Amino acid sequence: MSSWKDNLRTIEPYVPGEQPDLPDMIKLNTNENPYPPSPKVQEVLDQYDINALRLYPDPNSQHLVDAIAEYNGLNSDQVFVGVGSDDVLAIAFMTFFNSKKPILFPDITYSFYDVWAELFQIPYVQKPLDDHFEFVRSDYYGENGGIVIANPNAPTGVVQELDALRDIIDHNRDVVVIIDEAYVDFSDHSALELIKEYDNVLIVQTYSKSRSLAGMRIGHAMGSAELIAAMNDVRFSYNSYPMTRLSVEIGAAAIRDKAYFEEMRKRVVDTREWTKKELTRLGFTFGDSKTNFIFAKHKTIPGEVFFDELRKKHIFVRRFGNNPRIKDYLRISIGTQKEMEILVQELEKIEKMH
Ligand SMILES: *Cc1c(COP(=O)(O)O)cnc(C)c1O
Repeated sequence: MSSWKDNLRTIEPYVPGEQPDLPDMIKLNTNENPYPPSPKVQEVLDQYDINALRLYPDPNSQHLVDAIAEYNGLNSDQVFVGVGSDDVLAIAFMTFFNSKKPILFPDITYSFYDVWAELFQIPYVQKPLDDHFEFVRSDYYGENGGIVIANPNAPTGVVQELDALRDIIDHNRDVVVIIDEAYVDFSDHSALELIKEYDNVLIVQTYSKSRSLAGMRIGHAMGSAELIAAMNDVRFSYNSYPMTRLSVEIGAAAIRDKAYFEEMRKRVVDTREWTKKELTRLGFTFGDSKTNFIFAKHKTIPGEVFFDELRKKHIFVRRFGNNPRIKDYLRISIGTQKEMEILVQELEKIEKMH
């Protein structure tokens, strides 16, 4: 007998880091920013006329698109906005990856890429990073249906230089190359300038990490006007009003407050560098993180031990236990300086116990 169940789109979903809600917790598991959003965001909320919410938002999210374009020195037709960069990336996959050839991305990277590929039935091949979690460039020279690179990469934190990206793009002028820059504000260079040279490069960024607005869901893509127009055609075939009125105004206000952004970003980076020294002292090894997290492994004690012991103390970090290459690593988001001091004390106690 046939059943509606025969025609389900079955998919194993992406599993985000847990969102516990304990009053005393130290939450270092989903790379959120420990500092509040810009005070300009509070101003928008304080002055907001709720009567505006009766009406649908602007389908083009023009205020937000214009603010992002201005901040980055681009034309507005080079900017696409979405409900977090997850939404932006999903639409980019749908828009650009429609050949029968496999798309390429590393074996250790953002674990949503393979889920979207499965969901949209896009063939894909995962290319192993080398033992130092570096890209093997020549793996990306062959024929393919498109490329996705997180830079800095997650969860490794390792950044690739522009020359390496340029080399990969030069070998791939007839497919779209997506560069996911979720963590770029904690590194020292963006690949944004490449969109001026290459009409097939899409840069994706987010408000969730460096702008402390994970709860608002704002992400954006930047690229040639042709790439952006193609994404908008897909977007408007699916949902005409993706961004709420509030996210548009809050997003525009937040990106204009450059001084606050610079200050918060510096705090996170300073604490990251402090934490690196402490982790080294405790016997951890890690790549040179250019993100707001450190992906670290202890020289003798398994990752699971630290993970479980920290959890008992309501300190939450992330671990990818089902990937054998990285099961002993902890991905530790950078919290406030105080939170990281407590983390280090607890790691030290666990180390002495084992
Ligand atoms: C956090 C993250 C995203 C998604 O962020 P949004 O909150 O959806 O904007 C995308 N890519 C990578 C690599 C990330 O770490």
